[in-house]
Amino acid sequence: SREVKPEPSLVEIVPGLSVGGDEFIVMAGPCSVESEAQILQSAHAVKAAGARLLRGGAFKPRTSPYSFQGLEEEGLKLLAAAREETGLPIVTEVVNPRDVELVARYADVMQVGARNVQNFALLKMLGQLDKPILLKRGMATTIQEYLMSAEYILSEGNRRVILCERGIRTFETATRNTLDISAVPVLKSQTHLPVIVDPSHATGHARLIAPMSYAAVAAGADGLIVEVHPRPEEAASDGPQSLKPADFAAMMKKLAAYAEVA
Ligand code: PEP
Ligand code: MN
Repeated sequence: SREVKPEPSLVEIVPGLSVGGDEFIVMAGPCSVESEAQILQSAHAVKAAGARLLRGGAFKPRTSPYSFQGLEEEGLKLLAAAREETGLPIVTEVVNPRDVELVARYADVMQVGARNVQNFALLKMLGQLDKPILLKRGMATTIQEYLMSAEYILSEGNRRVILCERGIRTFETATRNTLDISAVPVLKSQTHLPVIVDPSHATGHARLIAPMSYAAVAAGADGLIVEVHPRPEEAASDGPQSLKPADFAAMMKKLAAYAEVA
């Protein structure tokens, strides 16, 4: 907490790249890794626009068991190939404690999804890794519960935790979730950990990504994680909340007026 550690923590991703400092860090890429061409195109596009990390899911926690579940290790290999080509570090989700070791062999940042925010066995395992963890807020976790989930990782010895507000469940149906923008300053007042915003999952609509991203800067966030797909209409998951590369580039240009982006 801020009481124990008053100054903000910088979470190093790779030497020379940290979250929580002066630079506003944008992570971007498709919801799911689908093919070599798709992830390479995405990686080049988001890098050209100024993203500092590539996102992409190889293990997907889908609401329906009949939906695309991800390419698993093949997806991790494609992410590693995209990192090789672009130099972008990769952030990817681990869904099952059984896969921690496998995902850690490829990932620069291990993502814990909203649905696993209270998977304490998974959190404890990640606490024993020497790797940054992107811990998403659950869709029904209070700030206090969310911070306790972060403690599960920290208390095992891994200090490199990045928090992510990705929308919570409310009565509102116009958006997929409700972006709790106030969570950003609340979290920042209570913890030294960096806080980023995921406007894709928070809203469910590509056209809402840019305005919520500017709001994230104004609220004091340390960065964003945004879904970008070369052809959102063909995406295997979350197409409606994915920006086309050109729209992502336009947003990044505007963001540069508000924040220090690469
Ligand atoms: C994702 O990042 O694709 C994802 C599944 O996010 P969340 O866990 O926030 O729903
Ligand atoms: Mn997604």
